[in-house]
Amino acid sequence: MTSNALSGGTDEGTGQRDRWHAETRAVVAGRDGSPGAPLNVPPVLASTFRDGSSPRYGRWGNPTWEALEEALGALEGGSTVAFSSGQAATAAVLDGLAPGSVVVHPTGAYTGTRELLATLADAGRLGLRPVDVTDTDAVLEALPGAGLVWIESPTNPLLGVAEVPRIVAAAQAEGVVSVVDNTFATPIAQRPLGWGATMVVHSATKYIGGHSDLLLGVVVTRDNTLRAALVRHRTLHGSVPGTVEAFLALRGLRTLPVRFARQQQTAALLAERLRVHPAVTAVHYPGLADDPYHRRAAALMSGFGAIVSFELPSATAADALVRAVELVIPTTSLGGVETTVERRGRWPGETGVPAGLLRLSVGLEHPDDLWGDLSHALDTAPSRA
Ligand SMILES: *Cc1c(COP(=O)(O)O)cnc(C)c1O
Repeated sequence: MTSNALSGGTDEGTGQRDRWHAETRAVVAGRDGSPGAPLNVPPVLASTFRDGSSPRYGRWGNPTWEALEEALGALEGGSTVAFSSGQAATAAVLDGLAPGSVVVHPTGAYTGTRELLATLADAGRLGLRPVDVTDTDAVLEALPGAGLVWIESPTNPLLGVAEVPRIVAAAQAEGVVSVVDNTFATPIAQRPLGWGATMVVHSATKYIGGHSDLLLGVVVTRDNTLRAALVRHRTLHGSVPGTVEAFLALRGLRTLPVRFARQQQTAALLAERLRVHPAVTAVHYPGLADDPYHRRAAALMSGFGAIVSFELPSATAADALVRAVELVIPTTSLGGVETTVERRGRWPGETGVPAGLLRLSVGLEHPDDLWGDLSHALDTAPSRA
């Protein structure tokens, strides 16, 4: 994949499955419909397969991943390639770029994405143009001559919202490949392929798996040539998903629409309550009517996500809250059924984030229990320290 493997190819139609709602597609897709077949494609634990119409080996493909790929493709509206992690999916996308290509990327992208881009730039492989992805004019100005634009929206952890359709359309006009990391929004709240994005990337480790019990990543595209290049990359680099992980991710995906709907509802409620709590100095959640990204999110997305960031006056106050919560789990990562909290500024690489900012990933506990825990921690922690 030395020349530009990320361009060209034909558009794959998304077919009849697109007529169904997401809840239905999540349940129906990726099943073997033949008589006598088990309802669920089982975890096929085989490194090799008896000769049939064509030779088959476990690194080239596996029925369990294929079921997951079909189901996730049905949700995003494209064709999916599953990888061992979100990071492996990102690496496969970036490796498809011709040497010396310039990547326009958000200053607030996922840490692993930023570190990988920096490593590739240090090695002289790629050039970088960092932008504030919520500043559409800045992004459009950076596009001419670039090879790829990486979009993450909502952003992490400040939950800014990018004008994805405009960026994607401008990229298309400039012949620039556009990639959207859709991990935070999930295909339930945002479907970038419908706007013309070349690829969508997910860390399925987060909402798609949804139970904090696996690592898995995917790339989704409507471009068959590109899909073939990504499969070839996965096969040659061996960045294949585990079979049990693929089984669990598909099981998680079946309930993604209902989980995410409930998580978004609870997130909105907690954001409203946090906003009026005297110890909280700011709340970042695009679902709040006075959030700077509210109108944009309301116009572009079909939900505001289930991550809420809020600020306390200092790192000390935020750390005290993290120690005081009993139900909410102090940890990194996000997207599980359990509510988790983290002071993002504890990571040295997290620049430009207020020291007292806490990122809350809202799970499926009862909202009153969550608010009880959070408000108790806010009231008792030495938050004015
Ligand atoms: C976690 C995450 C990744 C990386 O995925 P892994 O599955 O941890 O490799 C990429 N992007 C975003 C937005 C993430 O949250």
